[in-house]
Amino acid sequence: MSRSVLSHFLTLSHSPCSRFTPSLCCGFPVKYMEGTGLVRRSRRPIGLRGTGFPSICSVSASEPVVQESSPSSAKKRVVSGVQPTGSIHLGNYLGAIKNWIPLQNTYDTLFFIVDLHAITLPYETQQLSRATRDTAAIYLACGVDTSKASIFVQSHVRAHAELMWLLSSATPIGWLNKMIQFKEKSRKAGDENVAVALLTYPVLMASDILLYQSDFVPVGEDQKQHLELTRELAERVNYLYGGRKLKKLGGRGGAIFKVPEPLIPPAGARVMSLTDGLSKMSKSAPSDLSRINLLDSKDVIANKIKRCKTDSLSGLEFDNPERPECNNLLSVYQLISGKTKEEVAQECQNMNWGTFKVLLADSLIDHLHPIQIRYEEIISDSAYLDRVLAEGSKRAADIADATLNNVYQAMGFLRR
Ligand code: ATP
Ligand code: MG
Repeated sequence: MSRSVLSHFLTLSHSPCSRFTPSLCCGFPVKYMEGTGLVRRSRRPIGLRGTGFPSICSVSASEPVVQESSPSSAKKRVVSGVQPTGSIHLGNYLGAIKNWIPLQNTYDTLFFIVDLHAITLPYETQQLSRATRDTAAIYLACGVDTSKASIFVQSHVRAHAELMWLLSSATPIGWLNKMIQFKEKSRKAGDENVAVALLTYPVLMASDILLYQSDFVPVGEDQKQHLELTRELAERVNYLYGGRKLKKLGGRGGAIFKVPEPLIPPAGARVMSLTDGLSKMSKSAPSDLSRINLLDSKDVIANKIKRCKTDSLSGLEFDNPERPECNNLLSVYQLISGKTKEEVAQECQNMNWGTFKVLLADSLIDHLHPIQIRYEEIISDSAYLDRVLAEGSKRAADIADATLNNVYQAMGFLRR
């Protein structure tokens, strides 16, 4: 059952080691664990047990640390979230939110608004709570169904920040220094002045995922490296504190954390800026012309598409590295129209930019219109939204607290 829903995603178990982060894959955790003097070789790999997929990224250790703790009949769990750092755009939608919708029919799903992540760069305090509500309303408008999924605000479940502190003590700083997003964002923000939180935010992200014993995390490609770090951290904590060590402390033994898999869609995982086909579309990019926001009006969408960067070559084609804008805009059209790549390639091969831009703008307007109508209904019913978030955080806290208590016990804290 799980496989058919997942079959269109790329997972780490399916793909070779990350081309972005070779040092984080395969031998990486062993290297760091070796530094702790705790790794001895055995034939039993630590890996993705219980996911139903063979893992090519595995490490070896002296004792069987990762054991499936939940019964195999239990639904597998999916978690994901978006930062309330600005307007949700087409990249967030195609790379993440749109892909959540089919998953909620098969999996136990929790979708949260990661407001604690939104303070890692300077932000407007006046806007944070508004952006948080807007993000929740957009989740609902895009089709997250609260009879199947939970929606909650990250800061409403205190275990996220608490587990992050515990995980920080097991995270080598070298792992964080390698994070591409930290390097890029800190460079843009002026290196020396960036907050420590920008460096440590992948540990919070690991906490967000590991608290829920998540099996799968649907994200865009930019989060792949952070997911790899989460997996390595889960294995490291399982090794350092799980198994027999936990049992000696009176715990249940076994794994402390499940090792999660990212789900990265083959198309839409990296929607590029409208003004630069080599940069990712981002909420934090200074120019609003670089992105289509889900709530942009018809006129704004038409204007942004009209002004977006193109090239001077004739005909339109996918996968030409010399034409990143062309590939990006065709991919967006493909995903929004629901057509196959071959259909789009054929339909657009002889088009000029003027004709294609009108086609793309109209498709975007038609696709986003129902989402915008639903958003307006939801955001104007604040009691409903409050109820959804309260119910979501209650359910999330129950799961998160169980994991957190287990971690405290495994790490040797005096129990309350
Ligand atoms: P910021 O610039 O503040 O980091 P963002 O646009 O990168 O914002 P996030 O809230 O960091 O958005 O990411 C939310 C989700 O959207 C993540 O799963 C991320 O991988 C995905 N995502 C973000 N940008 C894109 C994009 N351009 N294409 C595909 N997916 C994306
Ligand atoms: Mg981001």
